Amino acid sequence: MSIKIGVARSLYSYYHYPLWQKFFENLGCEIVLSPSTTKKILEDGIRNAPAEICLPVKAFLGHIAYLKDKADYILVPRMVCLNAQHTLHQTKRSLKFGCPKAIGLPDMVKSIFSDLPQIIDLVIDERIMNQQQSFLNAGQLFSRDKKMIQGAWQSALIEKDRYDNLLLNGIKTSEIFNKEISSINIPTNTQTPRIALIGHPYLIYDDLLSHSLFDTIGKMGVSALPVSCVCKSAINDEITNFADIHWLYEQDIIGSTAYFLNQKLVSGVLFAFSFSCGTSSVVSEIINKELLSFHNIPSLTLLFDEHTAQEGVQTRLESFIDLLTRK
Ligand code: SF4
Repeated sequence: MSIKIGVARSLYSYYHYPLWQKFFENLGCEIVLSPSTTKKILEDGIRNAPAEICLPVKAFLGHIAYLKDKADYILVPRMVCLNAQHTLHQTKRSLKFGCPKAIGLPDMVKSIFSDLPQIIDLVIDERIMNQQQSFLNAGQLFSRDKKMIQGAWQSALIEKDRYDNLLLNGIKTSEIFNKEISSINIPTNTQTPRIALIGHPYLIYDDLLSHSLFDTIGKMGVSALPVSCVCKSAINDEITNFADIHWLYEQDIIGSTAYFLNQKLVSGVLFAFSFSCGTSSVVSEIINKELLSFHNIPSLTLLFDEHTAQEGVQTRLESFIDLLTRK
């Protein structure tokens, strides 16, 4: 019987699931992926979480509560630091850090839940060792065959690249949880108003947390261009114009917003952030001061927490889209 590894459909798995899945499956493990966030999962997370924490982390804890009796291990990666390329001509590399709240996730999980299976505390900290080595070390939990672990890593990288390329077509990031992406909806009608949909994928594409934001926008006759449809090289080019951004995923947010605006691809920008998210409040300040003030483009910021009501989201979206279509 294969070893079961629980993976939460939450937070960083919206970026890295294909890599994690392929790597551990290649080592003979079975992945137990938690379902899309349900009311019960979120309630479990809220009940267990510290009050001041953001909504996605609360949901993450609910997913851990769901998984803890269903797997032999639970993967809780600790994304500390990546040696990311982001500067002019991509020659200089610089350190980028994960969100401070998420860095402490393995400790938070262990301190909250007493009856857990073993946690795979996969530490990604490229100040200490490169990402590949971190995976090779984690792989030794499940195999002694170094060649096999190396092969698992290589094919996992190929899988991640394949999904990254699919995401460039503008599909929902939540599609990365599907083994096969069946249909890709590329907006062809140039008359359809387009907006940039800016935020973390684990909020925007979690239909419970964001009140089905992506689909709601689509039903209003507007195309939403997500952060994930801008390629890394375009983000790298744009981000050079900004003071150094020290957070890994936030440079994608700033770089893609700059790209959408500078290329005149959108007639509005919709920010969807979590209430009490520290990095988003800094990022939105930078975007407002350094980007929106130079472009005559309307923007709307929606903040989400567990008290956000569907009606409030709907009403504000309708007004915003009405403004765009009249313009
Ligand atoms: S970046 Fe913001 S939303 Fe994401 S985990 Fe950190 S605090 Fe929460």
